[in-house]
Amino acid sequence: MPPVNRLENLEAIVQQFKELDETMTHYSDMLSLAGWDQQVMAPPKGKSYFSKVRGTLSTELFRLATSDQIGELLNALSRPEVQQQLDAATKAAVRERKRSYDKDKKIPEKLHKDFTIHTANARTVWEEARKENHFEKFRPTLERTVELVRQYSELYGYEKHPYDALLDDYEPGLTVEQLDRIFGTLRERTVQLLERIRHSPQQPRHAFEGAFDVSQQEKFNLHIIPLLGYDLDAGRLDVTAHPFAITMNVGDVRITTRYFENDPKGSLFATIHETGHAIYEQGVNAEYEGSVISSGVSLGIHESQSRFLENMVGRSEAFWERYFGDYKSFFPGKFENLSVRDFYRSVNIVAPTFIRVEADEVTYNLHIMIRYELEKGLVAGELEVKDLPRLWNEKMREYLGVEPPTDTLGVLQDVHWAYGAFGYFPTYTLGNLYSAQIRKTILKQFPDFYDIIRRGQFSVIREWLRENIHQHGSVYTPSELIERVTGEPLNPDYLVEYFEEKYSDVYGL
Ligand code: ZN
Repeated sequence: MPPVNRLENLEAIVQQFKELDETMTHYSDMLSLAGWDQQVMAPPKGKSYFSKVRGTLSTELFRLATSDQIGELLNALSRPEVQQQLDAATKAAVRERKRSYDKDKKIPEKLHKDFTIHTANARTVWEEARKENHFEKFRPTLERTVELVRQYSELYGYEKHPYDALLDDYEPGLTVEQLDRIFGTLRERTVQLLERIRHSPQQPRHAFEGAFDVSQQEKFNLHIIPLLGYDLDAGRLDVTAHPFAITMNVGDVRITTRYFENDPKGSLFATIHETGHAIYEQGVNAEYEGSVISSGVSLGIHESQSRFLENMVGRSEAFWERYFGDYKSFFPGKFENLSVRDFYRSVNIVAPTFIRVEADEVTYNLHIMIRYELEKGLVAGELEVKDLPRLWNEKMREYLGVEPPTDTLGVLQDVHWAYGAFGYFPTYTLGNLYSAQIRKTILKQFPDFYDIIRRGQFSVIREWLRENIHQHGSVYTPSELIERVTGEPLNPDYLVEYFEEKYSDVYGL
């Protein structure tokens, strides 16, 4: 490689880096497309072959991402005197690629392969164990996963806690020290609020009774998501067992949802949630297309966009003042003697559940804290896998006041541990915290925020989100972005304030 001290050489190096960045992004895009196809479109008999194709693509991508060529380019471009000369987008792409490169290089190929094969099999074992309510069947597999995850943590390296090394994969820079402090405050004040809610004489009544035609549910979803800013010419809505959003490129961001005749609420809010993820990705500056920075910056920031739309907009009274009439018209005969206010209160019922994904927004974070504490203990070697079912139930009783009758409804409910995703769960709560802080900033900019929603002018808010958050893709790190947007680092008080304000209204506290 030519020396970088001359400008024309620097330009050549940047050009080479951009080409490699684009090639790797194209591999990722095709992996996304193949993943989507496997879950949404492919006929059952074609699925297993697809797994092999994805394996090949993913191995090729790993080779490129850890190649000597990219390593040399990244080293040259990371030198302080060179950094000064790069534009913000290139600098961010170098930062992102280098972060993965440095981590990947620490993992021996054999461990990478063992982990990939082990977690692929673990998923099947977990599925069976969950179906049969048989934790012991999953235990040896999970013990091996924890062993592998601990090896990753040691190889990545950390300053204070082995779990920090894993958190960094999902939310760069996040540490146990920060989380313990944030979760401590949040837990204490959530539990106090829950007590007041539980004792309120004004309990909302359930609005959804009987069966709701699935095709009508789908029609309403397709009616509402463009009004929230989702561009259907740059995306599509399909059906899968577990809803998700996935990006092929800025002009192709797809979402999925699921339908249950007896639970239209679940489907509706899952769809709005995924729409939040999708409008983030659709809003990224098109000039970043083909680069690693063309996607949202972290899971936590991503989740802030989905939770904001789902809970702070979609479960607000103003939203339903605007759209309850529309919703009723899709389900003639339903909600006949129900006021908008009753409907709004009904979609905000707070009640502890066994299952995280069915939890209301107040109790949701307690589910996350349970997983966080258990993961942290396992990674630090302070807890043993064999004790998980007992510890899980104890914590459920302590935090939520309910104890799951089976492990299927308890410790076996989530897929994350099966695929080795330790450090992922906290980003869900982080998303809630970020969303409340962003909401607070929006309220300062738009004191008539709820009037805007009541008038059906959400596009005004979407534009603000695009301008301040979405367009930047991964240019800023999560902590840089939150400070830029809200003027301060992450502060858990805003979520608690939002809960207290909203639930005082819903429950007449
Ligand atoms: Zn989400």
